[in-house]
Amino acid sequence: MKQPRITDIRATTVTVPLHAPLRHSNGAHWGRFVRTIIEVETDVGITGLGEMGGGGESAEMAFRQLKSYLVGHNPFELEAMRFKICNPTASLYNNRTQLHAALEFACIDIIGKFLNVPACDLFGGKVRDRVPFASYLFFTYPNEKTGRGEITTADDLSKEAIKLKKQYGFTSHKLKGGVFHPDYELEAFRAMAHAVGPDSVRYDPNAALSVEAAIRFGHAIEDLNNDYLEDPTWGLNGMRRVREKVRIPLATNTVVINFEQLATNVRDPAVDVILLDTTFWGGIRSCIKAAGVCETFQTGIAVHSSGELGIQLASMLHMGAVVPNLTFKADAHYHHLVDDVIEGGLMPYQNGSIAVPTGPGLGVTLNRDKLKQYAELYQSIGGYPYDRDPRRPDWFALVPNEIWADPHATGYIKK
Ligand SMILES: [Mg+2]
Repeated sequence: MKQPRITDIRATTVTVPLHAPLRHSNGAHWGRFVRTIIEVETDVGITGLGEMGGGGESAEMAFRQLKSYLVGHNPFELEAMRFKICNPTASLYNNRTQLHAALEFACIDIIGKFLNVPACDLFGGKVRDRVPFASYLFFTYPNEKTGRGEITTADDLSKEAIKLKKQYGFTSHKLKGGVFHPDYELEAFRAMAHAVGPDSVRYDPNAALSVEAAIRFGHAIEDLNNDYLEDPTWGLNGMRRVREKVRIPLATNTVVINFEQLATNVRDPAVDVILLDTTFWGGIRSCIKAAGVCETFQTGIAVHSSGELGIQLASMLHMGAVVPNLTFKADAHYHHLVDDVIEGGLMPYQNGSIAVPTGPGLGVTLNRDKLKQYAELYQSIGGYPYDRDPRRPDWFALVPNEIWADPHATGYIKK
């Protein structure tokens, strides 16, 4: 049987609104995600879908430049594509890990459609039909149009966690912190943890704390039902120092994001749980390989979310379906979105989990009308700087950070 060849790569940038702007340690998602949707066409009439983020910016140009590398390429030859795009020495000039990930999703989608099997069947088959997720809580600014949805206080946060628990069935709750002073966030996190008790919790300040502040924070939450403490500080050495002092597993999606770092962490452990991101690691396959290394060394794994629409979510679901050692609930920003660009709209949660798509390939189909609608929205309003705060224009974060947002600043806090 003649295998397909790539004939074209199309990239379309979309922006899809969020219920409210999401704040984090370096800035904010300004009320929407910007994603580049790619369509890889073949000479057998099958089109594969991929998706990439990129800090609020379009990646269209970068994909266009890779077209000359891949026209004529057989999408089954994934390992060859890895070296065409991500040769480790050539990548010193152009880091294309995330571009490669989106192309890999599309090629896997093509292979699955060509063979008429779901993507997870290409990786050993699923060991679970649904992937369980944690709620992902953020401090938020109010929605610009409605003025609603602000989360600043411990009370706001607790109410939101309970709302999400009721709405989606989550039994684990993650707080994205690193926005306000650690003492303020400690109080808010503890209040939220008590509000959702006996559910488990996880705190992630995106490495904003100093080693000493991270140790202090860790000690102050040791009595809670923590899944883990995620990236409290920056760097393998910083994390190792925190790990020596705090009796909570440490997790990371920042300092173990490739095999070199994974090997270092095996030799000299700094973290206990690796959050696998199909984008940061360069694709679904590298995450599954890393999960195998972690299984061997009994290092924990979870699924990281870098902000996804349905195509990337499908990559997370197929990865989450096949790794036996996924003992933690996955993260997703997905419930913060108001819409999606796939047929059927947002994939539904049930009892805190999402079903692994069963159709061929990634199992999702583009909704052309939605793609057009959100591409036009992007064209009219453009991107946004992920690492800037729209309401603190002169501020940028140091690592460790030392200038925290003021929860009492006018307009931010409820009276
Ligand atoms: Mg994180």
